[in-house]
Amino acid sequence: MRLFFFTIYFTFYSLNLCFSQSIKLEMQKLKKENKKSTNIILMIADGAGLSQITAAIYKNGNKSNLENFEVVGLQKTHSANSLITDSAASGTAMACGTKTLNGAIGVDAKNRSYESILKICEKKGYNSGMIVTSSIVHATPASFYANVPSRAEYQEIAYQLSKSEVDFFIGGGEKHFIKRNDNKNLVNEMKDWEFVSNLDQFNSSTSQKVGYFISYEEPPSLIEGRKPLLDIGLNSILKKLNSRDEPFFLLVEGSQVDWGGHDNDFEFVTSEYIEFDRAIGVALKFVDENPNTLLVVTADHETGGLGITSGNIRKFNPRARFSTKGHTATMVPVFSKGVGSSEFSGIYDNTEIFYKMMLQVK
Ligand code: MG
Ligand code: ZN
Repeated sequence: MRLFFFTIYFTFYSLNLCFSQSIKLEMQKLKKENKKSTNIILMIADGAGLSQITAAIYKNGNKSNLENFEVVGLQKTHSANSLITDSAASGTAMACGTKTLNGAIGVDAKNRSYESILKICEKKGYNSGMIVTSSIVHATPASFYANVPSRAEYQEIAYQLSKSEVDFFIGGGEKHFIKRNDNKNLVNEMKDWEFVSNLDQFNSSTSQKVGYFISYEEPPSLIEGRKPLLDIGLNSILKKLNSRDEPFFLLVEGSQVDWGGHDNDFEFVTSEYIEFDRAIGVALKFVDENPNTLLVVTADHETGGLGITSGNIRKFNPRARFSTKGHTATMVPVFSKGVGSSEFSGIYDNTEIFYKMMLQVK
């Protein structure tokens, strides 16, 4: 009799154990499946057309991480009202999938707001990050979290970032958060954020949301000593995003290739792109180690109408001429690798970048 009860008890005990164990396994499986969802890394070199890229490759000893990509496409960059886009309209096209007026951020030509891929991902439980070499409220990153008719509304854009679901950012422009016409101090108001002042603090922070302003105004150029280097910063933000169980969306911008183009400064352009190329190397390594990732590397438009018109073949030293101080309508290349990358071959509108990336958002 005693043995009987003991057996009953033991059976229930082991059943119970089995039950809780299977729940745990099921949960682990769910977590893993979630982890298997595709991470998306979108890298934009602002103003980098084929001549900027070609020049940077030669200046970098005739080598580039871009040569590791097998899928290459071309995107048409025109906006809703101009053959020559600006970074707001082209950023919005890639972030939200709609053509819009030059200058507009996250809204279409009729000023209707659109959700960006970053926001859609956040709603589905993804984490998100942004690392840029301009201010974090500049047109390109702003297209991924803000909805404003004009890119010049920096203080409103900063306010919208403070209310956004973004988890990590590295970029410049602290003043738009703390020296404001409405006298708000957004950094103080962003209670669930930790703000750090160097990369070591960023790396060691355990906060859920971390912001790192690399400058008060716009960051300096690489030649003038901008820190952290984009590849080093990218490595840090990737580590943070990859330490979470959920998939992520990450925007990386080499913002100042464009500024070199506006200045018609060839050294400025190529040094900025060579730094961006090193960051591409970091992203490629991440894709190798985390195959559940889509990496897309592109530009928002070409700046400067650059042509490589002479040079030295023995030193691979290109010389070039600019044909404008502004942007041009020339198509820009799209390089992609990882899950869903084959979608990105061919010629298409910049709005397709959004839809092709969205195929991976579940
Ligand atoms: Mg930009
Ligand atoms: Zn520009």
